[in-house]
Amino acid sequence: MTELLLKYFRSRQQEAETERVYDTQCPYCSMQCKMQLIEQSIVSRKQYKTIGKDNPTSEGRLCIKGMNAHQHALHSDRITYPLLKVNGEFVRISWEQALEKIRENFTSIQAEDGNDALAVYGSASITNEEAYLLGKFARVALQTKYIDYNGRLCMSAAASAASQTFGMDRGFTNSMSEISNVRCIILAGTNIAECQPTMMPYFERAKENGAYIIAIDPRETATTKMADLHLKVKPGADAALANGLLKVIIEEGLVDEAFVRERVKGFDEVAEHVAALDMDEIAELTGVPVEQIRKAGGIFGREETGMIFTARGVEQQTDGSAAVRNFLNILLATGKMGKPYCGYGAVTGQSNGQGAREHGQKADQLPGYRLIENEEHRAYIADVWGVRAEDLPRKGVSAYEMMEKVHSGEITGMLLMCSNPIVSNPNAHLVQEALQKLKFFVVIDLFISETARLADLILPASSYLEDEGTMTNVEGRVTLREASKPCPGEARHDWQILCDIAKVLGKGEYFSFSSAEEIFNELRIASRGGLADYSGITYDRLRKENGILWPCPDPEHPGTKRLFEESFAHPDGKAVMVAVSNNSVVPKEKPDGEFPLYLTTGRVMSHYLTGVQTRKSSSLAARNFESFMEIHPATAMKYNIQDQSLVKVESRRGSIVVRSQWSDKIRQDTVFVPFHWADSQNVNFLIPKDLDPTCRMPGFKASAVKISPIVEAISH
Ligand code: SF4
Repeated sequence: MTELLLKYFRSRQQEAETERVYDTQCPYCSMQCKMQLIEQSIVSRKQYKTIGKDNPTSEGRLCIKGMNAHQHALHSDRITYPLLKVNGEFVRISWEQALEKIRENFTSIQAEDGNDALAVYGSASITNEEAYLLGKFARVALQTKYIDYNGRLCMSAAASAASQTFGMDRGFTNSMSEISNVRCIILAGTNIAECQPTMMPYFERAKENGAYIIAIDPRETATTKMADLHLKVKPGADAALANGLLKVIIEEGLVDEAFVRERVKGFDEVAEHVAALDMDEIAELTGVPVEQIRKAGGIFGREETGMIFTARGVEQQTDGSAAVRNFLNILLATGKMGKPYCGYGAVTGQSNGQGAREHGQKADQLPGYRLIENEEHRAYIADVWGVRAEDLPRKGVSAYEMMEKVHSGEITGMLLMCSNPIVSNPNAHLVQEALQKLKFFVVIDLFISETARLADLILPASSYLEDEGTMTNVEGRVTLREASKPCPGEARHDWQILCDIAKVLGKGEYFSFSSAEEIFNELRIASRGGLADYSGITYDRLRKENGILWPCPDPEHPGTKRLFEESFAHPDGKAVMVAVSNNSVVPKEKPDGEFPLYLTTGRVMSHYLTGVQTRKSSSLAARNFESFMEIHPATAMKYNIQDQSLVKVESRRGSIVVRSQWSDKIRQDTVFVPFHWADSQNVNFLIPKDLDPTCRMPGFKASAVKISPIVEAISH
C-alpha cells in the first residue's frame, strides 16, 4: 500500500513539474514584443504565464495586453471547426463540405456576376506570408480586382505621405534606438503610452538626456504628460498647425539652406504659401495660442537634431495625407532627415501594419511595394507567379468603397480574413446593411465576431501561438514569429486555408505551399528589386540576427538602419515638399448649432482594435468592460450630464449610448469615445463616410455631435 501511494505521489509530482515554453510575439500592436508563453501542468490543471524576451525593439518589455494575450488564444469560444449558417443558425460541417460550398458559390457568383463580383477583405494583423498570399489569391485564384484591407483605415495616410515625399514608405526612417539621443521630438496625434507602451522608455530616456518634447493632441493623455509643451489642438486642425510651425521656422531663419538646396524640391512654393498665411488665423483655426506655436516652431528649428512622430490623430482625417506631408515639410525645411537622430516615424497601430501594406493586399499594389498599374511591375510579378501579365486584374478600390459596392450590388460575394469591418468602418450602418446583402460571405477568424455573425460560412483560423510567420514591426524590422503550439480542433493556418480554397477552385498549382517559410521564399523573390526588398532575408538569418530592417537586397546585406542618408527614393534622389492648405479639400464636419461638439475617437490601453480578441481576455476586459465618453466637467454641466451617467451621443448618421467620464484633460469643445466596442456602443455609427482624396482614409478623428443625458432622452 505504502509503495503504491509513494508511486502515486511521485507521478503527481512529475506531472506538477511538467513545463512547456512557447516562443512567440505579442499579437497586438506594432511593437511586436517578443515573448514566451510558459505552460505549467500542475497536477491535472494547466497554468500559464507570459514573460518578455529580449530583442532590439522591445528590449524584453511587455505591456498588460501582451502579458494576457494567451487568454484569448486559449479561450473556449475559439472556433475549432467550419460553421455553415443553416436557417439562421451556425452548424458544424467538415472541411470537405466547407470547401465544396465555397467552390459552388464562388463559381456561380463569378459565372453570373463576373470575376469582380467577388471581393477579398484582408487584415494588418496577419503575417507577411499571409498578406502576400491573400494578394496573390485575389489576383490569381479569383482573378478579381477587388481586394483591400483594414490597414486602409489605419496607416494609409502616413504611407501615401511618405511615398509622395520621400519616394518610399517605411514607418520609421531610423531604428528606434536613435530616439534616446534626439534633442527635440514632436509627437503629433499619438498616444504611445496607451497604444505602444513598451516604446515609452525610448522617449523617457531621451528626456533624461535633455530632449525637449512637444505633444500635439486635443486631450491630455499619459503621453502628453511627458511633454515639455502640449499644444491642445482642435480635432482636425493638424495641417494648419504644421503650417504655423513652418511659418515660424522660415520667418526666424531656421531653414537648413544647404540641405534644402541639395536634397529637396518644392521649398520655394511652400515658403511662399506659408508667408501668405496669417498667424492669428492659424491660432483661431487650431485653438493653439500664437505664443505656443512660436515657441514650438522655434525650439524644433533651433535644436541640432529632431524627429517627428505622427499617428492616427493626424492621419485619420479627410486631409490626413496632406497633414502628414506638412509635418514632413518641417523635417525637410530644417534638414532633419537622413542623419543621426533626425527622421520621421509613423507610429503604426496594428501588429503587422507595416508588412501587411508592402506585399499586395492593397487595391493598387503588388508585392515589394510594386504598383499594379505599372506595366513593368505587372510583368515582373506575373513572371514570379507563372501567369500572364494581361491576366492580372487592375487596380480596385479602398476598403470602405468596397463596402459601398457591396451595398449597390456590384460585389455579391466576399472572403474576409481576420477583420471586423462592421465595427471598424465609418458609416457603420451602411456596412452592416451591405454585408447582409451578399449572396455568399465567407469569414476566416478565431471567434464569431460581430461581422462573422453575418457570414454564411466561418472557417477556423490559427492564433499567434500556432501560426508561424514573419511580421514587420513599427520600425520596419522584419521579425520571425515562432509558433509551435498545435492548432485547436480542426482550425488551420490562414495560409493553409487559402491554399485549400485555391485547390478546389482549380488553381492549386499556384498555391502548392507546405510551410510559411516556403511562402516567404517566394515573397523574397517577388519583392526583389522593389522598394520593400526582402530578398536578402531568410528565416535562418531572422533566427540568428533577431530581426532585420528592410531593404535588405542580398544575403550579405546587414539591413538598413537609417534611410535616405545619401538620397531619397525618388528617381532624382530628391524629396518633394508641397504646400498644404489650412483646410481640407473634403470639407470636415464642424460643430454648429445642432451638433455643437467635436467628437474624436481613439484607443485605451487594455483593448486592441474592435476588441474581438481583448474582450475575450478576462484580465483585459475587466479593466474596461464598457465604452465611455470623456467630457470636460464644464461641458458636462452645460448639457446636464452627470459623471458616470449614461449619455446619448448623436451625429447626423446615428446615435450610441455610453457612460460619461468627466475629465478636465480634454478640450471643452470636444468629447472622446474609444472605438473598441460594437453594437449600441459602436462609435463608428457616428462617423461620416467622407474619404481623403489621396489615400481614401476616412475622417474618424473629427466629426460633430450632440449629447444628452439618457434619462432625459427616455422621458421625452
Ligand atoms: Fe508589446 Fe504592443 Fe503587445 Fe504591448 S500590445 S506587449 S507593447 S506588442
